[in-house]
Amino acid sequence: MTKKIAIIGGGIIGSTAAYYLSQDSDAENIEVTMFDDGNGQATKAAAGIISPWLSKRRNKKWYNLAQDGATLLKQIAMDTNMPEDIYNQCGTIITRDNPDKLQELYDLALKRTSQTETIGDVIKLTPNEVKEYIPILDHSLPGVYVSGGARLDGAKYTNHLKNIAKKINLSIINDYAKLNDDGNILVNDKSYQFDKIILATGAWTKKVLESLPLTVDTRAQKGQLIELAINQVANSDQNMPVLMPEGESDFIPVGKSRLIIGASHEDDKGFDLSIDDDITDSLLNSAKSLVNNISVDNLIRVKTGTRGYTNDYGPFFGVVPGYKNILVGGGLGSSGLTTGPLVGKILANLSLNHNVSNLEEYRKPIVNYIKLNNN
Ligand SMILES: Cc1cc2nc3c(=O)[nH]c(=O)nc-3n(C[C@H](O)[C@H](O)[C@H](O)COP(=O)(O)OP(=O)(O)OC[C@H]3O[C@@H](n4cnc5c(N)ncnc54)[C@H](O)[C@@H]3O)c2cc1C
Repeated sequence: MTKKIAIIGGGIIGSTAAYYLSQDSDAENIEVTMFDDGNGQATKAAAGIISPWLSKRRNKKWYNLAQDGATLLKQIAMDTNMPEDIYNQCGTIITRDNPDKLQELYDLALKRTSQTETIGDVIKLTPNEVKEYIPILDHSLPGVYVSGGARLDGAKYTNHLKNIAKKINLSIINDYAKLNDDGNILVNDKSYQFDKIILATGAWTKKVLESLPLTVDTRAQKGQLIELAINQVANSDQNMPVLMPEGESDFIPVGKSRLIIGASHEDDKGFDLSIDDDITDSLLNSAKSLVNNISVDNLIRVKTGTRGYTNDYGPFFGVVPGYKNILVGGGLGSSGLTTGPLVGKILANLSLNHNVSNLEEYRKPIVNYIKLNNN
């Protein structure tokens, strides 16, 4: 019998789930329908930094998810012949003024090389060595280079995976979907019934669950970044690493002619997607502190998107309490391009009732974030 699965949301979680549902050994008996309105999607606005290993976050479960997510992403890129303009293992550099803090980060990264091969080589760099890696820089602090760090173009990633899945068992409806109080999906007054529903609705998870008697902890955070044209083309074929400088916005060279600077974290703007000149100016100033000849004339565009986050900034995923046919993944915050692929894969497996090993190593209880009312 054909199993009917719905995915609401086509960002990194939804697209990765769709990809894995298309690769299942029983894919010919699975029908997948994705509903996505794309409005404000975080994945397509994201800066694209994949480098969890230098994070000092204390949430161990988050770190397990991010570390294994970065490895899975590399695997998906290899398995699907992802071109370099989508996934590029260009390396990342983090800089610090204080030598003790830099040493601490270096030691942390070295320790983590024993836990994952994806991190690659870890090297301490002087300011001049940082500039050799990123020749467009005029100023730098000393840093730590991690060769496994990568850059991901979120919008191209979702299209790449959806195109693979569409050839097998995925149909896409580019529209806003609601959940009925009986758990069915309603789009433009048309009702659809599914065996399983995967909610991959990012910052909109609270809204999509509002018809059910649940208390949901997701908040919206606005993020803006700028894209600049650069003409100081490096005289090498090597891709420049991403730079995470101390006290400034992240600095993401894309090929030899573009530079992304970002991103802002604005907790008080809800789902507003307008462009703020003040934020553009501060991101430009951040770029100017590293490269002398940057001005507003280099500005190509500003991107905005909405991240979903939770009270403890932790992600959640699994079965919605009280609704065994509805699965959810969200609250990925600022690191969702890194953690999202693994969350998407896990949700695809859970929707097919496949066993998922190590699940509890990756997540806190879902009831910390989504609770049945009166429970
Ligand atoms: C500016 C910015 C920079 C970032 N930089 C990085 C970075 O460098 N590295 C990193 O790891 N992470 C980064 N992130 C975080 C990352 O982008 C997000 O955590 C991640 O993309 C969230 O993925 P998602 O699939 O949960 O949600 P989203 O990508 O937001 O996708 C949710 C989708 O669901 C759709 N949707 C919602 N409700 C409905 C509905 N009812 N019906 C139909 N469709 C619906 C939305 O339109 C959207 O398309 C950044 C985010 C932003 C905004």
